[in-house]
Amino acid sequence: MTSYTQAYSRSTLEIGLAEPLQFPHRRYNPLRRSWVLVSPHRTDRPWQGEVNKSSGFSDVHYDPQCYLCPGNTRAGGHVTPKYESVYVFDNDYAALLPDSPDPQRGHAPELLRAERERGRCRVLCFHPDHSLTLARMDVADIRRVVDAWTEEYRTLGAVPEFRYVQIFENRGAMMGASNPHPHGQIWTTEHIPDEPRAETEAQVEYRKSHGTCLLCDYAALEARETARVICENERFLAVVPWWAVWPFEMLLVTKQHRRSLLDFDDADRNGLADILKQVTTRYDNLFETSFPYTMGFHQAPCDGEPHDAWHFHVHFYPPLLRSATVRKFMVGFEMLGMPQRDITPESAAERLRQLPTQHFALR
Ligand SMILES: [Zn+2]
Ligand SMILES: [Zn+2]
Ligand SMILES: [Zn+2]
Repeated sequence: MTSYTQAYSRSTLEIGLAEPLQFPHRRYNPLRRSWVLVSPHRTDRPWQGEVNKSSGFSDVHYDPQCYLCPGNTRAGGHVTPKYESVYVFDNDYAALLPDSPDPQRGHAPELLRAERERGRCRVLCFHPDHSLTLARMDVADIRRVVDAWTEEYRTLGAVPEFRYVQIFENRGAMMGASNPHPHGQIWTTEHIPDEPRAETEAQVEYRKSHGTCLLCDYAALEARETARVICENERFLAVVPWWAVWPFEMLLVTKQHRRSLLDFDDADRNGLADILKQVTTRYDNLFETSFPYTMGFHQAPCDGEPHDAWHFHVHFYPPLLRSATVRKFMVGFEMLGMPQRDITPESAAERLRQLPTQHFALR
């Protein structure tokens, strides 16, 4: 039987004293002002290169049962038109409504507080072809999606009742995506939700105390250090962030200061389309599967304030850990204390960086 002390001293020898970041430590996330526990001694062992048997891809270009395929009838009798590039509509089962009443009761107890939350939920079909994903679309087609995201952010953000526009994509059944058709969602809300609110406060305070932008400084630092960089283009840098919680979490940041999609010029829009293609291809190549994730944009709220401290970025939160079927769960200490990870962000970045840039399905 091995005692804790023996086990500890053995791992101490294996790891080597010269690398303090190979021992358990916690890392600070300056955007959310929270911590993540990193325990690299547990699984930072040589890569086994496990590969999934089935690719998880559909060969079906048109599915008569899919409500997002062109020409099909949706719930409630709405018909999805025969669109040829992108198509946006209000979700038939929206989580938010434009005209909800105020829930405040006459003498409600302070501890039972409620507020009205008006909003809209939109669905954006990326492409008419049922079998595609961002990883398998042409950059020119993704550029049309970028243009559609920008127009939605512009028009929804201009509505005075709405203060935030959340653009996101849930990819794969593991993330609860009910339909494989390439599509994303756009939810807009009367209040700024907790995540972007926390990031707003962190960026404003950083700018106050440093006189510079938090993510401009962070992008420059990561470009210098290179250990966490996955890939880049003229306008975007893709990293596994220092504070990543999910095993292969990614952060895409604009190299120039951009508050939102509305600050983007033509080259920025092309850059976003290109970097999305690059990183989703690497994800699929990692376990040779259609890689599941939640991806979303964080950008300046639409509440009429200038938000000069805000820096546009994209989060990718993928659940997979070691193979196409082994996922990470946020349970136990992570639900009660703080998130924890085993492989370091540096080793995750190295794996993603070394993958081929061509999609495995084309090889
Ligand atoms: Zn479809
Ligand atoms: Zn910036
Ligand atoms: Zn963010």
